Amino acid sequence: MRIFIDEVRSGPGARMQVSCNEAVQFDDLTLVGEVRVTGTLSNAASRLLLRAQMHARALLTCSRCADEFEADLEADLEEEFLPEESAEAQEGKDFPWSDVTTYAPEDRWIDLTEIIRQNALASVPIQVLCKPACKGLCSQCGVNLNATSCSCETHDIDPRLSSLRELQAKLQASAAKPDPKN
Ligand SMILES: [Zn+2]
Ligand SMILES: [Zn+2]
Repeated sequence: MRIFIDEVRSGPGARMQVSCNEAVQFDDLTLVGEVRVTGTLSNAASRLLLRAQMHARALLTCSRCADEFEADLEADLEEEFLPEESAEAQEGKDFPWSDVTTYAPEDRWIDLTEIIRQNALASVPIQVLCKPACKGLCSQCGVNLNATSCSCETHDIDPRLSSLRELQAKLQASAAKPDPKN
């Protein structure tokens, strides 16, 4: 995804609306449909500043049930682009960890693809779940417990819990008995 910068390079204070919709593909993240970036690009004399909202839809794999599902990814983009010849950009070159993005005097556009990739990856939740209450797969027979049930559950009750279960069953049984006063 590219933004043409001719307009905003006319001088300090120049400002333009950014509104892009484009399908973008990455090796490490599958996006569905188009990525949308809307905001402003402004010329702050020493650099270009992008302030924008990014919206993408990703195909994710649930970490519990392994089902694929689509999820919205949103991010606020705050990026700066330095002229390649600026002192700051030159200094940044010496530091491999520096994430300074530069543009050359002859560049007519800046490319947002890598910025979109990083922000999209960063907005994927740490625990990827198809839904908060995903029941996952049965640890014994492997069925997807969201779609079906199985009879395995009763076989693996922790022995420490079985006396609690018995107590619970007794309490439920006595609660269900009609009150003798009635
Ligand atoms: Zn799931
Ligand atoms: Zn099972």
